[in-house]
Amino acid sequence: MRDNFGRYCAATSARVAAVVKADAYGLGMIPVADALYKAGCRTFFVAFTAEGASLREHLRDVDIYVLSPLVATESQVLLNYGLIPCLYDLQGVDAWLIAAREANMTMPVALHVETGINRLGMPETEVRALCNDQRRRRGLHVAMLMSHLACADDPGAAHNARQLRRFEQMRRLFPGVPCSLSNSGGVFLGRNYHFDMVRPGIGLYGHDPHYRVTAPRVKPVVRFEAPLAQIKRLPAGEAVGYGATYVSREDKQIGVVLAGYADGIDRRAFDPQSWPPQQAAVSGVRVRVIGRISMDITTVDLSALHGRQVRVGDTVEFFGQVIAVEEIAEQLGTIPYELFTRIGSRVVRAYEE
Ligand SMILES: *Cc1c(COP(=O)(O)O)cnc(C)c1O
Repeated sequence: MRDNFGRYCAATSARVAAVVKADAYGLGMIPVADALYKAGCRTFFVAFTAEGASLREHLRDVDIYVLSPLVATESQVLLNYGLIPCLYDLQGVDAWLIAAREANMTMPVALHVETGINRLGMPETEVRALCNDQRRRRGLHVAMLMSHLACADDPGAAHNARQLRRFEQMRRLFPGVPCSLSNSGGVFLGRNYHFDMVRPGIGLYGHDPHYRVTAPRVKPVVRFEAPLAQIKRLPAGEAVGYGATYVSREDKQIGVVLAGYADGIDRRAFDPQSWPPQQAAVSGVRVRVIGRISMDITTVDLSALHGRQVRVGDTVEFFGQVIAVEEIAEQLGTIPYELFTRIGSRVVRAYEE
């Protein structure tokens, strides 16, 4: 992951911040932030105020931006923890100004302006109203102007240039204020998308959003695996799992794996009729998942190993090395982001240097 951070640094002259929201996409916010800090990262983005507070308790000398603050109720926490809220409406601006005045503090904020994704983001009319309001402007220390791309994962989308143009226009209203537009995909849309700071998340965790159209520019770093607890023969005609949905036509060797839907393995993934069947990998060989996925257990057909030695305790990979996370995501009709963030809380996160 540090290597991926380095790749982003090499790809731009802008500051590279790291998005560590949602427990660093399910991978563990504190260890991930520590590793990125060691790699030289000093700017972090989280989604919620509580995430920012946890990160602040761990890292003092970094900037922490909160992408989705609820300023009306969280200003005190934001101020106390020295978090930078990304303000997205005038109501939030006013709540912030009142809280800052009461606390007798002037702290930096970011302004998140709307350019075409229409989630959080200050509509242009409000941005202009803010600019023309000397009282509000004077009280507000705008440290960053930011927006977010809707189609950064698709370099061919015309929407990207449209958002870039709108962002350029709004930027003129804030001369001298540093700007940020790009997430992981945006960085690879070209230098004109970089501005002063880029905000990759998923790219650091090894998924290149443009993987369909280019060779990946980041390295996969997440491997999701679980141990084999039992290896046994399944006689012909015997069924596997709840509902007895899978019935073997011949004698075979199966493996019982200690991970289930509570760990983030999608229960919908198993469909006895589906082709290609849901896969896993044992000793580098692809095997088929058979029977329903239970809360704590998944069963695999070891036939593909052709008698190659496997032992209890050997690991079964669900994605990461042999099976790309992109492949599983596509098969499940989702994206790597969701597979990462769905990894269950009891799954042990082990980190390699
Ligand atoms: C999540 C998020 C990012 C990071 O996106 P990736 O696609 O993971 O790089 C950047 N900016 C905003 C506003 C976000 O919500």
